[in-house]
Amino acid sequence: MSHSDAKNIMVYVETVSDTPLNGGLEILTKAHKLAAARGEEVIAVLIGSNLEHAANTAIMAGADKVILVTKDNYEMEVYEAILTRLAEKYKPSLILSAGTLVGKDILPLVAGNLTTGCAVDVMEITDKDGNFVFTCPVYGGTVLNDLVIKGTPAVAAVRSGAFEKELVVERTGEIIKEQVGVENTVRAKIVEVVNEMAETVNLEEAQVIVSGGRGMGNKENFRLVEELALACHGVVGATRPAIEAEWVPRSHQVGQSGKIVAPKLYIACGISGATQHVSGMIGSGYIVAVNKDEDAPIFDIADVGIVGDVVKVVPLLIEEIKKI
Ligand code: FAD
Repeated sequence: MSHSDAKNIMVYVETVSDTPLNGGLEILTKAHKLAAARGEEVIAVLIGSNLEHAANTAIMAGADKVILVTKDNYEMEVYEAILTRLAEKYKPSLILSAGTLVGKDILPLVAGNLTTGCAVDVMEITDKDGNFVFTCPVYGGTVLNDLVIKGTPAVAAVRSGAFEKELVVERTGEIIKEQVGVENTVRAKIVEVVNEMAETVNLEEAQVIVSGGRGMGNKENFRLVEELALACHGVVGATRPAIEAEWVPRSHQVGQSGKIVAPKLYIACGISGATQHVSGMIGSGYIVAVNKDEDAPIFDIADVGIVGDVVKVVPLLIEEIKKI
């Protein structure tokens, strides 16, 4: 596909229980701004069932058109084939999705099908002389890399929280129901989806995360992290050592081999600030760290650092926050 054929930005918006995830809505708002400057439109793609309400939310977030494709369950091969078919039909200049497990599952395959490139973990998108420039962390988040994809469409999975969602009630848009026939290439079928209790809390969507590390000392002390998270209406995160000590389930892990998060507020308790952890939370808006070692690397990236014992400091924080 040549650059001149491309007329729109396509955004895959993931839904859970018929509700669009914030990551997709944030991207729609960003796409709306990028597309407006290029004279293009934004096409949101929603796959599932009962998505009319979600479609209206997508329009409020910035979609000019919403394509609804009815499918019961997530199947990687089916979803990537649907997105590929839609991209071939609507000829986007850019295809975006939130970098959730599903987004990272399907986007590289879509890029492969369209013989183009895919950027992942994108934190910023700019338009430079008609080319999209993607800012992505490399070397565990210590360096930010600007990346341009030569093929069209460019494909990118965006870090949740990278952009602000703006819902404008007055926005209008078109809802199109598409029937996309895809070959039955499914090799792995999902037979059952079991939600762990922890999975019901979405770290990638959270505005406030309170994370605990090895410095919490033991499972009982780790309850302080949970208590602080509750007081802040936040979600519990953890470092790998805290997971390995079984203080909290694996789905709470933040970092290179866990989840990439970007809340407005991240409170790190008893966390040293190893690169593999920091790369997963460096996109946070405001970082507060509590550590007894004043030379801990976490203080290099913290907006506010408290040097002290977590067992003494965290209860004080809980007490003060409960007063608000
Ligand atoms: P530590 O590094 O041991 O730090 C504990 C901190 O607590 C110290 O700074 C100490 O001063 C402080 N402390 C101790 N007691 C107290 C107290 N009473 N009060 C206050 N402060 C106290 N890690 C992740 O988190 N996420 C990942 O996704 C991840 N992926 C990895 C992938 C690979 C391939 C590898 C090799 C490693 C990965 N790791 C990951 C592990 C990572 O390298 C670090 O080991 C880990 O992040 C350290 O966790 P921590 O900060 O809890 O522990």
